[in-house]
Amino acid sequence: MFCQIYFSKERGLLIAPDFNGGAAYRLRPNLRFTKVLAKSSSSWGSLIFNLKNARMHDVNVLGGNSNYWGGFFDTEAFSMDELSPLLLCGVKLVPITMLETGSHSNCGTLCQMQDGNGKILNSSNYLNVDIDGYVDSIKFNGVNYDYSIINSKGELSFGVAGKIFLCVGTVQLIDLMYRSGLLNEGDVLTMTEYRHGLAIGMNNLTNSKSTVNGEVSIYYDIFRAVNHYLGIQKKTGLWSGMLVDIKQTFYAEKVDLKMTVEAEGRLTQVSEAKFGDSIHYCNLKINEVPVKEYFANVWPGIEVFGMASINQIKPGPISNDILKDIIKVYHES
Ligand SMILES: Cc1cc2nc3c(=O)[nH]c(=O)nc-3n(C[C@H](O)[C@H](O)[C@H](O)COP(=O)(O)OP(=O)(O)OC[C@H]3O[C@@H](n4cnc5c(N)ncnc54)[C@H](O)[C@@H]3O)c2cc1C
Repeated sequence: MFCQIYFSKERGLLIAPDFNGGAAYRLRPNLRFTKVLAKSSSSWGSLIFNLKNARMHDVNVLGGNSNYWGGFFDTEAFSMDELSPLLLCGVKLVPITMLETGSHSNCGTLCQMQDGNGKILNSSNYLNVDIDGYVDSIKFNGVNYDYSIINSKGELSFGVAGKIFLCVGTVQLIDLMYRSGLLNEGDVLTMTEYRHGLAIGMNNLTNSKSTVNGEVSIYYDIFRAVNHYLGIQKKTGLWSGMLVDIKQTFYAEKVDLKMTVEAEGRLTQVSEAKFGDSIHYCNLKINEVPVKEYFANVWPGIEVFGMASINQIKPGPISNDILKDIIKVYHES
């Protein structure tokens, strides 16, 4: 969605899937993420994610994770000029307060992205899809990129000569690289995240403004927290006013994940540390090379955007880092 808005002048073809895999792919219940009252989704792809102490999330429906997310976005690093394309599309950046969003934070620049109806922003409502299709693989023939796309009607192939933006989410990016021959047995994949914690208590009253060692905390009114858990994205008007709340903390301390590609499409976790609780994991490297650089070396002309291709420099929401990266590439191009 950010790409479509910021690169609107060069509007190209948007390819996004609106179907549910097929016999050629594996279903992966351990990557599935869904909520009771939200649109359901399943994870399907090519690799088996053999994770012993880690969680990854694959929401392979239109709009991806934004069907379930909290909408939190840190405006700190942005000028008004940089944010105006978003605002002109009707996106609201609502400062978080218990009354407005049922949450607040020790970080004063956190907002919640909402649509014009006071609902947490769901990017599927902003996407103009040109081709209903799942990108199965990409091959470079020295001049063009040949795309193979699957949808409910079958398979479609075509060549692309211009710019390509890959915004397929972390899990699906790894799958797509594997199917396209960019990952091989023995390759080592790493990622990082800021350590994450949840606590229930009277947190809000005691230390809601304090910043300990740069950590970022978000405090949720108990009603809002339950709504979020169930998948209700709209403000209900209910505010418990109760002293008990839920505190979500992103600590200023990084945790690493290491995986290796094994035979028969197995991607196996080899690190021991618990990983993935923050859902904001980033900085994917392949054999120590950051994924953006990896693509620039083998497939110049393809830009990768999303959590995998940024290196978060501050704990907290990650969508702001993704947008910052898109704006940077936009100005460079
Ligand atoms: C429950 C939850 C809450 C979160 N809350 C926040 C928050 O409050 N603030 C925040 O900053 N971040 C939050 N996040 C992190 C959030 O996921 C990221 O900020 C952001 O949504 C990542 O966007 P993405 O484009 O990288 O991937 P995704 O959101 O996963 O989107 C990927 C898109 O690509 C499509 N796609 C995938 N594979 C293919 C293919 N092969 N061909 C074509 N299309 C494909 C998918 O259908 C999907 O539309 C949350 C995540 C979760 C799961």
